[in-house]
Amino acid sequence: MQSIEKHESNVRSYVRNFPTVFSRAEGSHLYDAAGREYIDFFAGAGALNYGHNNPHMKRALIEYIESGGVTHSLDMATEAKARFLETFDELILAPRNMNYKVMFPGPTGTNAVEAALKLARKITGRMNVVSFTNAFHGMTLGSLTVTGNEMKRNGAGVPLSMTTRLPFDGYLGDDVDTLDQFEAMLDDSSSGLDQPAAIIIETIQAEGGINVAGFSWLRRLERIARKHGIVFIVDDIQVGNGRTGPFFSFEEIGLLPDIVCLSKSLSGYGTPFAATLIQPHLDVWDPGEHNGTFRGNNHAFVTSRAALETYWRDDTLTNDVKRKTSYVAERLAALAEKYDGEARGRGFIRGIAFENPHLAGAASAEGFKRGIIMETSGAKGEVLKFLAPLTIDDTTLEQGLDIVARSVEAAATSSVEGKLEADELPTGANGVASRLNGDSQLYARYGAE
Ligand SMILES: *Cc1c(COP(=O)(O)O)cnc(C)c1O
Repeated sequence: MQSIEKHESNVRSYVRNFPTVFSRAEGSHLYDAAGREYIDFFAGAGALNYGHNNPHMKRALIEYIESGGVTHSLDMATEAKARFLETFDELILAPRNMNYKVMFPGPTGTNAVEAALKLARKITGRMNVVSFTNAFHGMTLGSLTVTGNEMKRNGAGVPLSMTTRLPFDGYLGDDVDTLDQFEAMLDDSSSGLDQPAAIIIETIQAEGGINVAGFSWLRRLERIARKHGIVFIVDDIQVGNGRTGPFFSFEEIGLLPDIVCLSKSLSGYGTPFAATLIQPHLDVWDPGEHNGTFRGNNHAFVTSRAALETYWRDDTLTNDVKRKTSYVAERLAALAEKYDGEARGRGFIRGIAFENPHLAGAASAEGFKRGIIMETSGAKGEVLKFLAPLTIDDTTLEQGLDIVARSVEAAATSSVEGKLEADELPTGANGVASRLNGDSQLYARYGAE
């Protein structure tokens, strides 16, 4: 830990909320150097849907490496890539009647978003992109333009323009359909709204506070996009790959986006991997027009294909997620009721938004002491976020939720007793205020929350 505090940049964040040195991980558990066990209800922010070091993917990767399989190849053809594409089409796209070309941008989620935005502008010849309040799409400049979070946007240091922000579903309360205004403005040539090249949307805003968009709202948004020739982009980076049960978060809703951004759990093993799915008639790229050294990571092709083979040949995982979802939803709803919170979520991404915004961060800190890794999200870090691996077994799930209940109780008790001063409270990696004492001054100096 000392070397990390001494040498790693101040930009480090999650380590501040979970201040220990991890050494080993298996399934839904992490172990630190002191041998302490933690249940992982964070799952790499959704990059570890199949748990840590999943044996199926591990074996496939070890065999590939030992057989001398190609590691790096830019975007030249490799057997690993060809086999991934075949399997992805066979098990994911074809059964869903989805016809998409697969683009490999750089290996992280934000790369998939940058590629999508660039392509939408090329397709339409328009510049403006519609994005939503509390959206999170990544930290590079293009993705930041369509991201809401103030602190993250401020980091850009340049104007983040060429985007129109609209209120997400529910932003103005349950009685307001936020798309009424959008549609009226699109239909009025004098509204001042620049015709958008694209709409980019998360079906569930994960970082933004587990805000779930209504199915009919999303369908209406897609219809609006079609009517006005706007490229409809779904960012399924965090809530795809089975997080809601089915592979894509939008399949139950019946959406067919023009472009889909995938990353996080796409590789299935935590190996960096991203893909931008493009409807074939929109694939207007010129060769090499979007480039990069690490496009198509062969090790990720191998682990991703193993994940598909293991978990997506039938409905077992999807059904298991649905079964466990009811249990989790029930437990979190009970907690929410007891501690003045609102239970949110869909599928295996859930959360509690507490009326007292400090409670989530305090519960996360109490949870860490008790052996659970659980993050917060939302503008004020007010949402305690449940994001366990989809493959978690029932016993661990129950143990974890028991710890969560005790942690929320402890946090609520200490806040009632006045032990938690607002200024000292952790607000999670999103709010960035830290529970490591020394750092709060630093943040204060730079004007962060
Ligand atoms: C994590 C995330 C991104 C960015 O992915 P990185 O790999 O961190 O660049 C983009 N969109 C959503 C919805 C995400 O959750």
